[in-house]
Amino acid sequence: MGDLYLRFDGYDDLKAILSESDENVLRRLGRPALICIPGSDRVPRARVVSCLLHGNEDSGYRAVLEMLRAGARFPFDLWVFIGNVRAASHEGWFAHRFLDDQEDFNRVWGLAAPTTRMRRCADAVLDELRGTDLEAAVDLHNNTGQNPFYTVVPRPGYETLTLAATCADTALLWGLRAHTLMEELSPRCPAVAIECSLPARRTSTLFAASALERFLAARTFDDERRPRHLFEMRFRVTVRPEVPFAFGGTLTDDLDLILTPGLDGYNFGMLLAGTELGRIHPGAALPLEVTGMAGEDATDRFLTARADGRVVVTEDVTPAMMVTTVVQTRRDCLFYIVRRRS
Ligand SMILES: [Zn+2]
Repeated sequence: MGDLYLRFDGYDDLKAILSESDENVLRRLGRPALICIPGSDRVPRARVVSCLLHGNEDSGYRAVLEMLRAGARFPFDLWVFIGNVRAASHEGWFAHRFLDDQEDFNRVWGLAAPTTRMRRCADAVLDELRGTDLEAAVDLHNNTGQNPFYTVVPRPGYETLTLAATCADTALLWGLRAHTLMEELSPRCPAVAIECSLPARRTSTLFAASALERFLAARTFDDERRPRHLFEMRFRVTVRPEVPFAFGGTLTDDLDLILTPGLDGYNFGMLLAGTELGRIHPGAALPLEVTGMAGEDATDRFLTARADGRVVVTEDVTPAMMVTTVVQTRRDCLFYIVRRRS
């Protein structure tokens, strides 16, 4: 497994690497890295922090390096995984979520019969963690649109909600089934992804650092707290694949949908009934689709096209993870509709 990722035990071999800039650390690593910082207690407990599973999401990575540079030790073994180093250092810094010849590094955990280096790497990391007494795990990410800081909770239980509340005020319940690292660890310990808003921003890195600090300083996660704002995923809104579209600008012979720019500012807030999501040529059918988590079509419940070509929402909805680019919309979806849980 030595060639799948670099393995560090303690700070001895890390120190020289950590003295470099964040970018040069990536250059020195050249591949994923799994670091174990042995605990100051002899109690065999462990926590996991992962970052950079998406190569363009720098905030968690920078926060993790800052923590490691301080040489911190904890009353538990701390396992740190730094994921898609190749994507993060290809064609500039933090420019790619993953490369064209790669899969998404947060979709390869716990798959049977690993066929690729990335999948084998994921398996080998899980193997190393198998022998540990895991107490909790967090995975640091950024969003592609404007969002408040929040956690993604794959498996709600009171310890997991306490962990979520420790890290951020807002949490989103999401039965992913997407082979993410946190999903894979969640049967073993409380595990959440921490979403640190937009990448390449000082405020995002500062939040990542503070969430990480709270995670590492928490004595336990069994004191039953809930995030102040708790949402669950309900529907997914996509642009029909045949429809050429843009964010902002005007309709042309080549563009059949203009989406209203800036709607990501409403993430985890409210889009009131009547809010315009975009414009189409009058007479064209709805270019957006709304699908429930079980695959049921709910387009007519939430959206309509007015005679003048305005596409509007027909009831008040809370959007989440609204994106701002065509590529991201095509890759996943335009946004999700979430519902507040009491
Ligand atoms: Zn991510």
